[in-house]
Amino acid sequence: DERIVTGEIQAEDSTVELSLRPTSLNQYIGQQKVKENLSIFIKAAKMREEPLDHVLLYGPPGLGKTTLAAIIANEMGVQFRSTSGPAIERAGDLAAILSSLDPGDVLFIDEVHRLPRSVEEVLYSAMEDFFLDIVIGTGPSARSVRIELPPFTLVGATTRAGLLSAPLRDRFGVLSRLEYYEAKDLCSIVERTADIFQTSITKDAAAEVSRRSRGTPRIANRLLKRIRDISQVKGENTISLETTDLALQMLQVDDVGLDHIDHKLLKGIIEGFQGGPVGLDTIAATIGEESQTIEDVYEPYLLQIGFIQRTPRGRIVTPKAYQHFGIKGNETE
Ligand code: ADP
Repeated sequence: DERIVTGEIQAEDSTVELSLRPTSLNQYIGQQKVKENLSIFIKAAKMREEPLDHVLLYGPPGLGKTTLAAIIANEMGVQFRSTSGPAIERAGDLAAILSSLDPGDVLFIDEVHRLPRSVEEVLYSAMEDFFLDIVIGTGPSARSVRIELPPFTLVGATTRAGLLSAPLRDRFGVLSRLEYYEAKDLCSIVERTADIFQTSITKDAAAEVSRRSRGTPRIANRLLKRIRDISQVKGENTISLETTDLALQMLQVDDVGLDHIDHKLLKGIIEGFQGGPVGLDTIAATIGEESQTIEDVYEPYLLQIGFIQRTPRGRIVTPKAYQHFGIKGNETE
């Protein structure tokens, strides 16, 4: 299901994303606190000539975790290796990756919460003391071998820190939470992307794109790419607000960045449950989506902009969301 306003990576992103990645902390827009912290840790590690502490980056998809991991490697002057939790199926896979690293290298594990338990358990000693205990063979001939590893930095990424087991989380020295981008930062990202696309965009059009991109660079870049196509066909030299608005209407992205799925979710609660409170599982059954998907993918942005609230008795749709739809609220609330 290709959704234009999702932060998850889509097939259409892959061709452009590499060219859009900033390569230094200076070029990385926004996330001021995270950048300040990391730059201090990086400086200190370089002064001590030690690898950087292990870093956990968490936050919704598309906010720049992978980008930041690659920047950390760049700033440390080491190689960047990238894999993901589900891709490492056995302890042996992990051993192969780790023993091929050069001292100080950055290993990035995306979706680190999805590492198989057996892999996670051997990772502990690798993170703490740079060795692995691997069991070779089965039955009576099984034996354990110790593999010494080069010191390395693990950069893990996950959508929520709470998805990680406590022992794994505790082994990260640096925990950084990425936030949805402020409009002005997203605006700078849109202008930077327009530059790389060798096109230009008016200030108010860039502001419009950022307002409708759910605080997420990946979405802003994806929308801009589609808008540019329409602008080009119209023969514009500079992407205008009018074209931006037209394109986003065609893409069915509303004026706060919501699409038909968000509308279905919100209207489902408004029309089916007088705006709530209603339990997550009930919502899921009503609109035909998995609870987990609602919680991880659809809900975070609606919570962020205050269209939904979590209460002990379930989710409620706020007056702000009623206003957005031009529906009169529940008078008894
Ligand atoms: P994540 O790993 O969190 O899903 P990515 O690092 O893949 O996100 O970023 C998605 C896209 O957004 C990339 O193409 C990247 O170039 C762009 N991007 C993310 N953060 C920034 C930023 N701070 N400045 C400029 N571009 C960014």
